[in-house]
Amino acid sequence: MINSERLSSRIEELSQFGKLPKGGITRLALSKEDKAARDLLKKWMEELELKVVIDQMGNMMGIWGESDTPGIAIGSHLDSVKEGGNFDGPVGVIGALEVIQSLKENGIKPKKPVILINFTNEEGVRFTPDMMGSLAFAKGIDVEEAWKIKATNDGKTIKECLKEIGYLGKEIPGTVNIENYIEIHIEQGPILESEEINIGAVSQLQGIYWTEYILHGKASHAGTTPLSMRNDAGFVAGCMIKQIRKLAKKHKGVGTVGVCELSPSQINATSETVRIIADIRHPKEKKLGKFQDDFDAYVSKITKKEGVTFEKKELVRFTPVQFSEKIVELISKKSSELGLTCTEMTSGAGHDAQMMQRVCPSAMIFIPSKDGLSHNPKEFSTEKDIENGAKVLYEVLKELIN
Ligand SMILES: [Zn+2]
Repeated sequence: MINSERLSSRIEELSQFGKLPKGGITRLALSKEDKAARDLLKKWMEELELKVVIDQMGNMMGIWGESDTPGIAIGSHLDSVKEGGNFDGPVGVIGALEVIQSLKENGIKPKKPVILINFTNEEGVRFTPDMMGSLAFAKGIDVEEAWKIKATNDGKTIKECLKEIGYLGKEIPGTVNIENYIEIHIEQGPILESEEINIGAVSQLQGIYWTEYILHGKASHAGTTPLSMRNDAGFVAGCMIKQIRKLAKKHKGVGTVGVCELSPSQINATSETVRIIADIRHPKEKKLGKFQDDFDAYVSKITKKEGVTFEKKELVRFTPVQFSEKIVELISKKSSELGLTCTEMTSGAGHDAQMMQRVCPSAMIFIPSKDGLSHNPKEFSTEKDIENGAKVLYEVLKELIN
C-alpha cells in the first residue's frame, strides 16, 4: 500500500537543498534552499492534483477533496536547523504526501478533505519563536506582528523573506476547517531504537521554558584579583549550568544551558558580561513552574553572593500538551494490526502538532532515530522505519476519512 522506494527517494531528493559536504543539510526557514524544497513539494502536490494554498505565513497546504466538512490535516515542516539532518520534518511532509498518493492509487475516496501541510519556520533558528507557522495557524501569534520579526542572521523581516521567495500567500492562517491533525516525525531520541520498538504513539509533549539571563560582573585580572574580590559573571554562569542539572534530577525533568557567551572571552581575565539561556522541560505544568522558580531563586542567590547583577527575559513559555487519547489509541491499534510494536510516549522536543492541538484533537507518530541523534548531519532513520510510520498513518487516516 505504501511505495517505500518512492517515499525514501523523495526524501533523498529533497536532501539536495542545503546539502552539506559532510552530509546533512542547512535549510533555514525562508532561505533560498527552503524555497527550492518548497518548489519541489509544490510540484509534487500539483502532480497529485492537490489544490495548493499558501497562507500569509507561507504555510503550504495541499488539499485533496472539496467539501464543507472539516478535514484531516497531516504534515510537518521542511526547514532545518544549522547543520541538521535530512529527516527531521521531511519524513512527516513526504510521508503525508506518500499516504495521500497511496490512498489515491488504491481508489480510496475520502468523505472528508485531507490537507497536507508544510509549516513555516518550525525550527526557529533564523526567526524566533520556533513553530511559528503552526502558532499563527492556531492564532497564537498575530500575522502582522510575525511579519515584523527579523532574521537572526541577516536582519530581513519575515514578510520581506516571504515575498522574496514567492511564498507570501493571501489566505489567513487557520481558516481551513480542520477536525484532526496527525504528524509523523522521527523520535529525535534513543528510546524506540534502544527498546527495539517500531512506533511511538505520542500522547503528550513536554512543556518548554526558555529564559535568557544577562549577567553583569566585572572584568578583572586573572592573576592579581583575589578570589574574594571578584565579581566574575563567568563563575556564576558555571554555577548555573551545574545547578540546572541538579534541579532537573530533583524534579525529574530535563534542563540544559546551550548558550553561554562570555565577554570578554579572554584567557587572563574574569568575565564582565555573560549571556546565558536556560532550556527547562517537563511534561507536568506545575512541576515545570516549580523547576523554573527554583532555578530563578538559585540565580538570585548566586549572583548576590558573587556581587553580580542580572537581567532576565522570558523567551519561550510553552506549557505541556496532552494529545488526543482517541487518536493515540487508534495509532496503537493500527500499529498492532500491521504487526508493528508500539508504545505510548512523551515527546521531549517541540513540534507543530502541539500548536495544532490548540485548534483540534491531534497526535504524533514517532519512528526510531539511529543512536537517538537529531539536529545533527548524522541523523538517520531507515527506509523500513519510515515506511512503517507511513503505513500507520495510512491506516489511521483511512479510518478517519471514512
Ligand atoms: Zn521537526
